[in-house]
Amino acid sequence: MHRKIWTLAAVFAFLNPWICAHAAEKPVLNGEKAQAEAARFLADLIRIDTQDPPGNESRVAQYLQGVLKDAGVEAELLETVPGRASIVARLKGDGSKRPLLLMGHEDVVPVDRSRWTVDPFAAIERDGLIYGRGASDDKAMVAANLEVFLQLKRLQVPLARDVIFLSEASEEMSSPAGMKTVVERYWDKLDCEFALNEGGGSLIENGKIKYMGVGTSEKLPRGAKLEATGSSGHGSIPRVDNAVVHLAAAVQKAGTWETPARLNETTSEFFQRLATISPPEEAAWYRDVLNPKVQEQLRVKKPQYYSMLRTSVVPTMLSAGIKSNVIPPSAEATLDIRALPDEDLAKFRETLAGVINDPQVKVVAEDATYSMVPAPPSRLHTEMFDALERAQKEVAPEAITLPLMGTGATDSSFLRAHGVQAYGIGVPKTEDEARTVHGNDERIEVKQLGIFVRFEFSAVTAVAARK
Ligand SMILES: [Zn+2]
Repeated sequence: MHRKIWTLAAVFAFLNPWICAHAAEKPVLNGEKAQAEAARFLADLIRIDTQDPPGNESRVAQYLQGVLKDAGVEAELLETVPGRASIVARLKGDGSKRPLLLMGHEDVVPVDRSRWTVDPFAAIERDGLIYGRGASDDKAMVAANLEVFLQLKRLQVPLARDVIFLSEASEEMSSPAGMKTVVERYWDKLDCEFALNEGGGSLIENGKIKYMGVGTSEKLPRGAKLEATGSSGHGSIPRVDNAVVHLAAAVQKAGTWETPARLNETTSEFFQRLATISPPEEAAWYRDVLNPKVQEQLRVKKPQYYSMLRTSVVPTMLSAGIKSNVIPPSAEATLDIRALPDEDLAKFRETLAGVINDPQVKVVAEDATYSMVPAPPSRLHTEMFDALERAQKEVAPEAITLPLMGTGATDSSFLRAHGVQAYGIGVPKTEDEARTVHGNDERIEVKQLGIFVRFEFSAVTAVAARK
């Protein structure tokens, strides 16, 4: 029934966009056509291999430029590194409000082809799912952004704010081609009040959307190294200052250190709302998350939530030695440290050194030249956040909106550092589908891509269309 209403409204809109835009309460999208077109964009994008490194993102930028040109929109390539262009385009508003930016990244993480059951760059559609590297991260976002942007143009929606389309290079491997450089060089082309980006997580359970996650903040990745030194010598003679032994003890202490837990505005709201849709035992945890007994439960059973409450320290790489009978003079471990947005990292590393408490082991900060930058969380209950929540109620009335703090990182940090209220959203996925992101057989459901496009279009028009 709904489908017929959309179709009629869309025909009406096609025949007379002006009437649609001005007389109707809200611009109306032909959901079915928009889904089919977004799915076609996604398939085209997957077929352009942008494994990073080396990325070669300019080919995606050129594809997008062509599609936009066909719709009468001039787009500009921002090529900070040869062959690795980002792309930006703009629909003008009347200037009464500051711009809204829609962004998604062009590059994807590499694949291990031997572990895929389909060609990762063929965009195979099977049982209503599109398979391919980037199907979720992040070409679905790029395809949806493109679809929403084109619909605003075609339906001639009168805009109060400029709507900017951006697809950026090198998000997956921080490099000079990425968002840091783009923001530094081209801020005048991106300056905005609100942004929508990846970084949300929406869950499908038993065929229904359980929640739509809106990312308002994320942890800051800041690796560190543990460098142990000792005297070198023959493997037949044990030495008390053996660097390998000292490193092993330090890794053990760092990896089991229960770092302090605390809540912020986003995580407080997250756990409160999560309690309302969780089974009784879990709901009781979420209402009392800082309780040390609850922390123990979360550490084992919900490590994702455990991580959301603290700066986390995870040893991930070890290296030492050249031969079994040689005691090496040094040994090194890499720690993946993910900091809460308000963490003082220099102080944190000092505390970690105190926990390790070994003069033979140094804690050294890793180079973060092109990595994400410290940024304040985006606020809850802004015009944009409220519009996303209302859009969620439209497309998935049975669900709730959950504000999220991501334990991973996105390019939103570069915008938040400029005062932009940036929100992470994403195509709803089952837990199984979510596990394929950066994994094998990455895939999303075409129907959910369609729902996501309607969701995004609704939220975008609510904040950007002239009232
Ligand atoms: Zn991504």
